Amino acid sequence: MLRDAAGALPDAVVLLDAQMRVRWCNRAAQRLLGLQFPRDRGADIAHCLGSPLVATWLAEGGIGELDEIPAPAAPEIHLCFSLIPLRDQAKLLLARDISALLHLEQVRRDFVANVSHELRTPLTVIHGYLELIEPEDVPALAPMLDELRAQSKRMGQIVEDLLTLSRLETQQRADDEDVAMQPLLATLRKEAEALSAGRHVIALEEDAHCDLRGSPRDLHSAFSNLVSNAVRYTPEGGRISIRWQREPDGGARFSVSDTGYGIPAQHIPRLTERFYRVSSSRSRATGGTGLGLSIVKHVLALHEARLEIASAPGKGSTFSCVFGSERVLPVTLQ
Ligand code: ADP
Repeated sequence: MLRDAAGALPDAVVLLDAQMRVRWCNRAAQRLLGLQFPRDRGADIAHCLGSPLVATWLAEGGIGELDEIPAPAAPEIHLCFSLIPLRDQAKLLLARDISALLHLEQVRRDFVANVSHELRTPLTVIHGYLELIEPEDVPALAPMLDELRAQSKRMGQIVEDLLTLSRLETQQRADDEDVAMQPLLATLRKEAEALSAGRHVIALEEDAHCDLRGSPRDLHSAFSNLVSNAVRYTPEGGRISIRWQREPDGGARFSVSDTGYGIPAQHIPRLTERFYRVSSSRSRATGGTGLGLSIVKHVLALHEARLEIASAPGKGSTFSCVFGSERVLPVTLQ
């Protein structure tokens, strides 16, 4: 009875012995994984599946889930594998068809990219005409003109950030180049000074003496988002420190510390979600799109780096990008 039920499940189910040999499998396993029962009884599962990715995952103990794997017997279908330990070292290999989920995710991504793209041209036209209007030519509009310009600029920035996110989401790896850190840090400092307009003390501490391997454009965009946040969320008179340091494991850390408003602990895990803000009014008032940290997260993922956030409300925050040693280069470019 139980075997009949498992046999009819839509997910592939394979019962394995302690040596990872097939003991039994259901119909979906035959359709999706290409197993044949009873022919494959006693055969090594990794060998039967013929997928190097699945074989490596199984050899490493099948920890966690293995996502987005083309089904060995139906490559247009994508599977998510998991391995469940049973009694006496026996195991259950499950493979779930996640094609519909992936398709929906793709539809969402395309929709956001298309809408952003379609909005770009009309916004550029509106913005262009607003720039052309002189307040003295239309006194009746003068009080609104600054606000109209600011809002059309803000919309333009949101669209640009959404397009950047769409590109980062579809990219598999960073466009690797040698990135000279010294000029990049100097540019970031200048950007911070321009945005602060003398309201903060800006310090640069650079003792890593190394460069990075990665995408210059994306790294600049991520670092510059952190710097701009530090300036925007720190009241006048505060201090912003930009640091570039080595890590004990040979990696390197780019960090931005501020003495600003800080962030209550419960918000920290959600900060990199799109449009997540601790305070919407403060974000808008300072020209935020709510997408900056989401961009940072995606850029770092493409560089196999991680984001660390430490913050104390009322005292300030430190955002750090931590790169592995394989991304670190000796200084060669000047
Ligand atoms: P925004 O455009 O709103 O700044 P971000 O994605 O860059 O969007 O940041 C998300 C939220 O994280 C911000 O709205 C703000 O509440 C909080 N935040 C980011 N950086 C800082 C910081 N340095 N100090 C305090 N809060 C910050």
